[in-house]
Amino acid sequence: MIRTRTKVKDLLEFLDSGSTVHVKGWVRTKRGSNKVAFIALNDGSVIHNIQIVIDVSRFNPELLKKVTTGSCIAVTGTLVESPGQKQSVEIQAMDIELYGTADADSYPLQKKGHSLEFLREIAHLRPRTNTFGAVLRIRHAMSYAIHKYFNDHGFIYLHTPIITGSDAEGAGEMFRVTVLDDKNPPLKEDGTVDYQKDFFGKETNLTVSGQLEGEIGALALAEIYTFGPTFRAENSNTPRHLAEFWMIEPEMAFYDIDDNMDLAEDFLKFLVRYALDNCTSDLEFLNNRYDKELIERLKNILENDFVRMGYTGAIEILTGSGQKFEFPVEWGLDLQAEHERYLVEKHFKRPVILTDYPKDIKAFYMYQNNDGKTVRAMDVLFPRIGEIIGGSQREERYDRLYQRIREQKIPEKDLWWYLETRRFGTAPHSGFGLGFERLILFITGMSNIRDVIPFPRTPKNAEF
Ligand code: ATP
Ligand code: MN
Repeated sequence: MIRTRTKVKDLLEFLDSGSTVHVKGWVRTKRGSNKVAFIALNDGSVIHNIQIVIDVSRFNPELLKKVTTGSCIAVTGTLVESPGQKQSVEIQAMDIELYGTADADSYPLQKKGHSLEFLREIAHLRPRTNTFGAVLRIRHAMSYAIHKYFNDHGFIYLHTPIITGSDAEGAGEMFRVTVLDDKNPPLKEDGTVDYQKDFFGKETNLTVSGQLEGEIGALALAEIYTFGPTFRAENSNTPRHLAEFWMIEPEMAFYDIDDNMDLAEDFLKFLVRYALDNCTSDLEFLNNRYDKELIERLKNILENDFVRMGYTGAIEILTGSGQKFEFPVEWGLDLQAEHERYLVEKHFKRPVILTDYPKDIKAFYMYQNNDGKTVRAMDVLFPRIGEIIGGSQREERYDRLYQRIREQKIPEKDLWWYLETRRFGTAPHSGFGLGFERLILFITGMSNIRDVIPFPRTPKNAEF
């Protein structure tokens, strides 16, 4: 039964009328009379449906009855120019094969216009909607564009571990990985669980970031990136946080903070341009359906230089703004999304890269400035998102790094290997982490991060 399948995308782009085509897909709607029926068929290759025209008298009525919304069929037919307004071509059906029925009384996507909240409850079916088709195709295109960008710039894709034995970064927000018997775990003399008897002979968790291992790669291969899943067990139920999300983390030897900012800006602009050039029909759909300013907002990213300024300057703008914020603004406190968005959306009206944050609100590995108070962190802030990238120049000086590890009381035994990278052939280096789903939120204009990943993992939600 091997017959060539014509993808709807190709058929719309390349094929002339008169061609015999063989399409397979899912029925979105069926309408018509007892003489002629029209089926809108979608095969996932493109947002557009292809119209199938059926001369009812030529087909078995029992078969046609079973071709309903949601059913899956294969159609052989002739591509012809369409007299209708809505489409340029349609298929005159010669043969229909029914793969799978979808009972009209129980198929949940029988009607159009379901809420995104309802669709989250049927994550096994929502990819069959226009919205999720568009989002998932864009997600794919962005994954490809990320690998393309780094490959074209000579970066090496480094696979960092998903199970990690160091909890240096994430203290308290990690998912434990264990094979010990949960009812009867081996205990130490003091009554606590004896992880020496666990699979790896120590406590292990799912990683919160590939950065520390990425630095090992950069200090050998010069320019690397990671692109993989990361996990955070923080109980934050926000539209911008997932418990399992994907992160892109480039790490570059010989880059200082300015080189790091240049890379982040060039990279983000490349990705936005790639989406505008290659995801046109999906973006147009999302623009019309959800967010009339989406495409304008994407273009705006390409047209402007990102603002670059210090954290201290940002605090002055925020405190002088006269704006009421829910969370306090004060030198030394971390910025919340509402502050970040004020700077980007109201004050500058373009992306902002903030640097030189107070050292006490940033991680131990960031390069310490001479003022003794700030570190060379950089956060890239985007409209509607707030922080999309977090990064820094890394502290490459052994003594300064060691002192910071002691000050922050980070268990040295977990980090001996990280410290050794500074004892042997250390080098100035920098890197950042881009949250993949935050990028997809921005590109698609969706408002909830649960709607830009096929199977969201959030507190109390791991059904699908
Ligand atoms: P936030 O302050 O927004 O919670 P963060 O400062 O904890 O983020 P980083 O540790 O700097 O995040 O992670 C790097 C990037 O990963 C962030 O800039 C963001 O794009 C993304 N990110 C972080 N946490 C999450 C999450 N829980 N879900 C989705 N993306 C995330
Ligand atoms: Mn951050």
